[in-house]
Amino acid sequence: MCATRTGDVAATLKQIASLAEHGAGLVRIAVDSRRDLEALKAIRQKTNVPLAVDLQENYQLAAQVAPYVQKIRYNPGHLFHHDREKTAFQKVHLIVEAARRHACAVRIGINCGSLAGQSSDERGNTVENALALARQHVQIMEDSAFKNYVVSLKSARPEEVVEANRRFASEFEQIPLHLGVTEAGMLPEGEAKSRAALENLLAEGIGDTIRVSLTLPAERKFEEVLIARRIVEDVYAGRLGQGPAWHGSGLNIISCPSCARVENEKFVELAGRVREVCRFAEHENVTIAVMGCRVNGPGESDQADLGLWCAVNHVNLKRGTKLIGAFSYEDVLERLKAELVDLIASRKRG
Ligand code: SF4
Repeated sequence: MCATRTGDVAATLKQIASLAEHGAGLVRIAVDSRRDLEALKAIRQKTNVPLAVDLQENYQLAAQVAPYVQKIRYNPGHLFHHDREKTAFQKVHLIVEAARRHACAVRIGINCGSLAGQSSDERGNTVENALALARQHVQIMEDSAFKNYVVSLKSARPEEVVEANRRFASEFEQIPLHLGVTEAGMLPEGEAKSRAALENLLAEGIGDTIRVSLTLPAERKFEEVLIARRIVEDVYAGRLGQGPAWHGSGLNIISCPSCARVENEKFVELAGRVREVCRFAEHENVTIAVMGCRVNGPGESDQADLGLWCAVNHVNLKRGTKLIGAFSYEDVLERLKAELVDLIASRKRG
């Protein structure tokens, strides 16, 4: 996926070309506004690379984007934001009809960090709820007699990705699955988490397309593609357990791959600084989420022990579901460290 502003046509075209040259078969870009839509039209005129468009809550743009792309991805967990009087079926129907008219594929892109506006208290079993949402949207496709779709069930937690996709694949053998560990974070941990989930699933014959999501600066985004291709090659050659290993314990930093929606370009640097500041706690079982915007920021930080999600000029810092406050990009690090020290001490006190 492009991490450039979609409206910056030159930068987005450059990144599309870079991802395609390194082996991406389909490149996703975000479209959230009329301006992005105009940019998409200009981008389409200058590249033949297959494009997917990511509609989070802006389902209404489906008819306008469909003529220019090969796939539309929507997130069922974000459909509720606009036009609350309409049902999910009515909204998805618009997407499906636009896709049908233009021979576009659709991806039902479920993310365990953003499940239909549920708070963490309402979530209970995340995998169960993700599967329930998937079943609901598969039913909408069936009711619409639309066959050209894939499903993805992503999570920042490799074990959830494995469980959700295994269960979906056994229930819906014929429906293609797009695999990925979302917000896998920085290297090398991001590759380790991706391998922990994708190697297992691919080796079982589950998965039709994949994406590796890493927190990387824009000029290094192509590394996602190289790692994804290496994982597939390793699995097909029977070389499981290659690359960095994910042990599932110790300090776990979840960070998003950033995209056109990232609120501040400082996000990637912030994620790296969070890792440095928190390194003293590397053996503690603490999860810290660092997210680039409000799309998955509130949901992922709800599920983490400590969470940061970025706004344009400040960073929201949370401890579990409780908002501690909004801090500058500089000051948030010191406060994060203090909260982490306190969290570890309070656990030791019992
Ligand atoms: S959290 Fe926001 S910036 Fe990060 S990948 Fe998701 S939509 Fe993009």
